[in-house]
Amino acid sequence: MVRTQTFRQTVAVFSKSYLPLNQINIKRAVILLVTGKAEPLDLGNGVKGIPMHSPTMVLLVPQYIRLTVNHQERSWRVPAVTRREVLRRDKHACQYCGSTKHLTLDHVIPVSKGGKHTWDNIVTACERCNNRKSNHSPQQIGMTLRTTPKAPLHPIVAFAEQFWRGHKVQSGNLDN
Ligand SMILES: [Zn+2]
Repeated sequence: MVRTQTFRQTVAVFSKSYLPLNQINIKRAVILLVTGKAEPLDLGNGVKGIPMHSPTMVLLVPQYIRLTVNHQERSWRVPAVTRREVLRRDKHACQYCGSTKHLTLDHVIPVSKGGKHTWDNIVTACERCNNRKSNHSPQQIGMTLRTTPKAPLHPIVAFAEQFWRGHKVQSGNLDN
């Protein structure tokens, strides 16, 4: 029982320059530690680690590790504005009403009014909202966007933002 739970836990990996990169499973973390490709990282929150039991010993796997080697970053470019990518960015929800059904793409400033087919002018909209909005800007018709559309973030930056949001208290302490 304990074993299964342990294996479901994840370890946060930081780059050599202390950027949070991603979460990996505990087995991968152990391999990185044992092969010397990573070292435990203490964020000063008093977390001792996740106990992992082998037949003969208990290993405390740190919750945070830092790579000791340079992280090979795969090249990444802002994706093209496609239906798939826009839906993914908008978490498959209409940006006006939140509906997850009958989704279409909407040009915030209509193309006929000079709106461009760019990340900051395209949002996911359900058919109903799209029809209601028709050839208007949201302001004209009293509709508000739930988020400001922008290009997707580099996955590492996105992970870092999410990571530090989840560690608010701690980053606050570090600032003091
Ligand atoms: Zn809608």
